[in-house]
Amino acid sequence: MKNLIYLLLAVCMLFSLAACGGSKAVIETAPADSGAESTIGNVVSSEPDAAAVGIDYLALVNKLHPLPDGWEDALQTVTVTNSVGDEVEVEKKAYDAYLLLKADLEEQDGIYLELDSARRSVAAQQDIMDRFIEKYGADYAAKTVATPGYSEHHMGLALDLYFRLKGEDGAFTDVYYNEDMVQYPEIWEKIHARLADYGFILRYPEGKEHITGYGYEPWHLRYIDDADIAKEITSKGLTFEEYLGAVRTTDVNIDYGAFELYSREELEDIPIINGGWPERKTAD
Ligand SMILES: [Zn+2]
Repeated sequence: MKNLIYLLLAVCMLFSLAACGGSKAVIETAPADSGAESTIGNVVSSEPDAAAVGIDYLALVNKLHPLPDGWEDALQTVTVTNSVGDEVEVEKKAYDAYLLLKADLEEQDGIYLELDSARRSVAAQQDIMDRFIEKYGADYAAKTVATPGYSEHHMGLALDLYFRLKGEDGAFTDVYYNEDMVQYPEIWEKIHARLADYGFILRYPEGKEHITGYGYEPWHLRYIDDADIAKEITSKGLTFEEYLGAVRTTDVNIDYGAFELYSREELEDIPIINGGWPERKTAD
């Protein structure tokens, strides 16, 4: 959600579009109530009471796999404020891992990460869908708004990054919009090189659009809570779908094995551009 046009619309609506989804996760426990909130600095923590919970950090959510039942009840999150003043809600362990990644990049590479967005609830996505249907009709809404329940962002484990550059005078400049961020491939390379150490993977890599269903998004990370698996996925150049063996045949491309999630024809229909929408607006 970092395109300028998209952002403006999102601001107007006080909501944002989300995207893909798919999962085969198992929720071990799903406590009914979520309890106390505590605030530490600008971090607000909400935790289910007692008997917490498990979420499956290797669950798959994409356009074919919805958020697992009970996920939102089991989810434990923190809410933080980013450098542009937006509140971002993130799953707790993913946030802890993000802080380590951020510190490492600052120390080693002088790159200052920020969180653009992370969790978006199914309800918020449904609200967006309803508004779009009302305003633009069902067809347009279906093409421009991610189906509620099928966005990885529902999990709290998907993080959209942006970064800040530090000038010689010590002042920071936000590199926030998609069209600006893609101007710094060398910075993304350094960021991506450190992800696996902290249990993150680049979720929508270049050249795998027909498998993930999304165009290349250098900023979209997925936390999987396992550095070894993250390293395996990264070193083998796999998508998460490929690693999980969750790719469906739609057209045969030997380079990607026997199974593909989307045909190229279907893919071309995914980022539907109507009314001047920039391509990235539906991104994830
Ligand atoms: Zn994203």
